[in-house]
Amino acid sequence: CGIVAYVGNRAVTPLLIEGLKRLEYRGYDSAGIAVRGNSGELSVTRAVGRVSNLELLVEEDAQYDEGFIGIAHTRWATHGEPSVDNAHPHVGLTKDGHTVAVVHNGIIENYSSLRTYLEGKGHTFYSQTDTEVLAKLIAELYVDDLETAVQKALQEVSGAYAIAVMIDGWPHTLVCARKGSPLIVGVADHAYVVASDASAIVSHTTQVFALEDYQVVKLSAGPVDEKNGTGEPWSSELRTTTIDN
Ligand code: GLU
Repeated sequence: CGIVAYVGNRAVTPLLIEGLKRLEYRGYDSAGIAVRGNSGELSVTRAVGRVSNLELLVEEDAQYDEGFIGIAHTRWATHGEPSVDNAHPHVGLTKDGHTVAVVHNGIIENYSSLRTYLEGKGHTFYSQTDTEVLAKLIAELYVDDLETAVQKALQEVSGAYAIAVMIDGWPHTLVCARKGSPLIVGVADHAYVVASDASAIVSHTTQVFALEDYQVVKLSAGPVDEKNGTGEPWSSELRTTTIDN
């Protein structure tokens, strides 16, 4: 139902929670968040009910005090009941052991055949959602580059989607795409805020653009070498490509 994602130079968790609250008026049954902390690992937390339930959980978890990149979601269930397991973000594991996290608005129509295919490849599903298929498919197709994996995955998918995708480790990069569901990118100083609805962006920037159907954006904003460098220059990059349909 609602997406907020951020990559940049500000503490990401309060920003994402605030964004989710601005999307609450649209209605939802559960909410969740994924943030990459200083260790490079992703923390993922999901809760049924109000965004404030999710907020309490992340406030108790010190992992969420860190991080400059993350994705968040309010869910309106289409496939699978409202539950913690079915709430987004959904995750998949790449062959080389990376975790991919995805938030999604819309419906993946061919999820059933994709799920069978991915189970055959050794992926174990924990939810009833169509979205988990997307997370596992991107993970299955991942070789070194998240943007390429997302492009390849979306070529196999039919249905409607707005998605924001991230991976653990050090690419300070979000990959976002849409077809048939809205997604807007706000460009701020050394940061990008992505949302399904302008109400979650307007407090951060007035420079916004809407993605086109089949457009994939790669958003990078951060220290060139966040892991080792202090005082490295910040670099921002916005790349858009279009997938074949
Ligand atoms: N189809 C997805 C699900 O049921 C996404 C629903 C939404 O747009 O919130 O989890």
